[in-house]
Amino acid sequence: MNQAEATQATDLRLIDSHCHVHDTEFFADNREELYQQSIAAGIGMICVGTDQRSSQQAVEFAANRDFAWAAVGVHPHDSKDGWGEIEQLLKNRAENSPIVAIGEIGLDYYYNHSPREVQIQALEAQLQLAVDYDLPVSFHIRDGAPDQPSVWDDFWPIFDNFHGVRGVLHSFTDTRRNLEKGFARGLYVGLNGISTFTKDQTQRELFASVPLERLLLETDAPFLTPKPFRGKMNKPEYVELVAKYWAAERKLALHDLEKAATDNTVKLFGL
Ligand SMILES: [Zn+2]
Repeated sequence: MNQAEATQATDLRLIDSHCHVHDTEFFADNREELYQQSIAAGIGMICVGTDQRSSQQAVEFAANRDFAWAAVGVHPHDSKDGWGEIEQLLKNRAENSPIVAIGEIGLDYYYNHSPREVQIQALEAQLQLAVDYDLPVSFHIRDGAPDQPSVWDDFWPIFDNFHGVRGVLHSFTDTRRNLEKGFARGLYVGLNGISTFTKDQTQRELFASVPLERLLLETDAPFLTPKPFRGKMNKPEYVELVAKYWAAERKLALHDLEKAATDNTVKLFGL
């Protein structure tokens, strides 16, 4: 498929449901080139903010591109720098706004780049935005060391305080128990390059068991480049490598897996 053939999101072969290709910190000179390459391959993308600056950039990048959409939000790493401008982006959005989600937001007890109390405040404030503006959420939830308080013990009660929130556990690498808790709450799970190169057998079995109706595919570009391009910079087009990998592993027709992931992405984000 080429750009001329795709007229709406459902025409796309795949959608990278989480990338940072809009962000000039990573893609200073080649954003447009990577976008065009992806579209030529029938692959759209959701450009996810991590702080106030990159959220603004995601909106600007997606605004005049047919198959890029924006998520706005402040990552737990950056929550110490504030999140007030995210609501401004939502308030000021134009009629044909490309903003389709809040994200990436959550808790990260692995790096603790922001104090936990601040991460929690930012998460709660931005979940309120998801409710107020009726938008799905791209969640980044990462646990710390086993001897530290569990991130999930904090996350689930907070999540449950906000009724009707829908979204995806992006780059999920936790336990079956927490995955099941997510599914019980209607959440999707986003698989990326990690799932193609992890040697952790438990994780591989977990990824292989994700029901197709709960599956999203993503790159998290520029990070987490899938096999066989590890060590190179990731890009939205490589979401197809994740699709091919899991179609082969699960003995599914590539088209069926791609269609399921694309349909889920279109549905969750209302594309
Ligand atoms: Zn990300």
